[in-house]
Amino acid sequence: MPRIFLKIFVPGPFHDGLHYHFSTNVAAGVRVRVQLGTREIIGISGGKIESDAKIPETKPILEVLDDEPIITNEIFALAGFASDYYMAPLGDLLLSGLPNTLRKGKPLPKPKTNTGLAKPRGYQLTNEQNVAIECIDSSTGQFNCFLLQGVTGSGKTQVFSELIAHSIARKQKVLILVPEIGLTGQMADRIQAQLKGILSVSHSGLSDGDRSRAFVAAKDGLIDVLIGTRSALFTPIKQLGLILVDEEHDSAYKNQEGARYSARDLSIIRAKQANIPIVLSSATPSLETWQAAQQGRYRKLILKERPGAATSTKIELIDSRRDKPVGGLTQTARQAIIRALENGQQALVFLNRRGYAPVMMCADCGWTPVCKHCDAKPTLHRSPNLLWCHHCDNKSRPPLICPACSKSTLIAIGHGTERVAEALTQILPEFPIIRIDRDTTARRRSFKTLIEPVIEGKPCVLVGTQMLAKGHDFKHLSTVIVADGDQGLLGADFRSIEHFSQLLTQVTGRAGRHQNQGYVYIQTHRPDSHWFSLILANQYDTLAAALVKERIQFKWPPTTHIALITGRSGNPGSVFAALDQIKLTFKQLNSSLQILGPAPSPMEHRNRQYHGQLLLAGPRQLLQWALKETGPWAYRRQGKVVFQLDVDPWDLW
Ligand code: ADP
Ligand code: ZN
Ligand code: ZN
Repeated sequence: MPRIFLKIFVPGPFHDGLHYHFSTNVAAGVRVRVQLGTREIIGISGGKIESDAKIPETKPILEVLDDEPIITNEIFALAGFASDYYMAPLGDLLLSGLPNTLRKGKPLPKPKTNTGLAKPRGYQLTNEQNVAIECIDSSTGQFNCFLLQGVTGSGKTQVFSELIAHSIARKQKVLILVPEIGLTGQMADRIQAQLKGILSVSHSGLSDGDRSRAFVAAKDGLIDVLIGTRSALFTPIKQLGLILVDEEHDSAYKNQEGARYSARDLSIIRAKQANIPIVLSSATPSLETWQAAQQGRYRKLILKERPGAATSTKIELIDSRRDKPVGGLTQTARQAIIRALENGQQALVFLNRRGYAPVMMCADCGWTPVCKHCDAKPTLHRSPNLLWCHHCDNKSRPPLICPACSKSTLIAIGHGTERVAEALTQILPEFPIIRIDRDTTARRRSFKTLIEPVIEGKPCVLVGTQMLAKGHDFKHLSTVIVADGDQGLLGADFRSIEHFSQLLTQVTGRAGRHQNQGYVYIQTHRPDSHWFSLILANQYDTLAAALVKERIQFKWPPTTHIALITGRSGNPGSVFAALDQIKLTFKQLNSSLQILGPAPSPMEHRNRQYHGQLLLAGPRQLLQWALKETGPWAYRRQGKVVFQLDVDPWDLW
């Protein structure tokens, strides 16, 4: 029997794949079953090993699972780039793009698709929409990155629809990325209503079967449009002609487990490799994208008019120093809510903090509980009654009397969604107060049930976290209260203001989307902050320019590139010693790379472990060179210290 040596990519830290043999060649991209240690696992063939180099003793491939490659050359190229750039094992990346059942070695299912309804749009496109469409169309078959910038309601999705129709006419396929599972259905409905094409969705919320059927359909060129979340990026698509990335600034595009890739950035690479156009759309582009458009690397297309919005939203600051909040809400805010309800409309109180109160304290001696496992105060929850650490999930019963002074003087400080909802129920007993956060929506379908009265259009008040900020289209919502407008201004992260203004824009986009005049009230102790005047001027370009200026001054991205090496261990000393060692290897390169730290992470003691970090900054090429020179694979573990490398981190957590 001849022995053909093959490279096989398996999950885990095997950066260059492993070697196995088989009696015949197995094409690259075909799944195989192999033995690794004592386990049998599924791997991906990387093809024949051509070199004459001596190949160590190999094991045989146990089974070849596919007749033809299910991972195409284009996906190999994309995952290869990602593996090199983010320094993550190629096997992990190749397999992460596969739906669960395929990753586990199940056979390929029959593809499944849906056909659209092909209803005409029924209105004229605006001038700006036409210009954008023409521009992008003229780049067909050629790489170009476009930024489509326009507020909610400016008609960005309609531009997507038109581009898709043109692609279908050319028999080219379209990949659409959206940040969250919850937004795939909405986008799919919208596009399906108008198109005659065939569409599939792909995200981790689907059943395993549906997901792999969509995968096969895309690979075989049976669908015109694939809509998915970041993992859909690694789906092979026959005759891909266009990539659309919706809400490109959204941090959900950054994978925070395993390979820390940015699906937005990689989708640009995919477009480049396939030589096709890509469109990044947002009302509030990330500074990276905004800056690239400013410098002419991306082409900026602006939608200023709002053909779909009846009126523009009024935004007002409430000075919480004068108008002191009661139950988390100022008098102005409460009156605004009541006004909305009396007009038969709905109001939303946005507060990015779940639970009852962020802190419990003894009013007599000042004692507060701290988490055993973290440098954090546990959040007080009322139903169920718990002190709950949101960082390590540790839960305990709140004491009834103060453990320090034994008095019954324990009080709740500050407001979470639970407490604000409670206060609203007291002042507005005749209206439904609907709380939407991770606690109330933990069960499947509970979200849908909870928002039923909202969809029906009954006057009611929503109290919710970030979950409510994105995408939802509530027709009768006229008034939004941002309960904690200080949070974003005081954040320690270099992206705080950018994220805050993106969030505000999104929340603002919830109000008055249809016939109603929309109102947004922001409660803050710092109404005179110059950031507010920039944010409220509603000119994102001016705000972005000011933010970039600040980033230049402090040498933060996008004016430089950074990589974050985080070490963690049960012992704080060993983390720092190991990071010092790594720092030394970078220093020995004698380059102009900036090396900051090691320093404790923003929350050093978290989840029973101590965290420290080393920050590297410099031009992208220098940074990449330095990471490669120092042998990045050594960062995974040293003794009991586990490392994590994050290239282009979105936060420094
Ligand atoms: P965005 O994606 O920017 O939020 P959409 O494309 O969803 O904007 O458009 C918002 C609303 O305006 C939708 O109801 C859409 O049907 C409508 N719309 C879009 N373009 C036009 C237009 N040229 N004329 C009239 N209505 C439009
Ligand atoms: Zn006390
Ligand atoms: Zn904790």
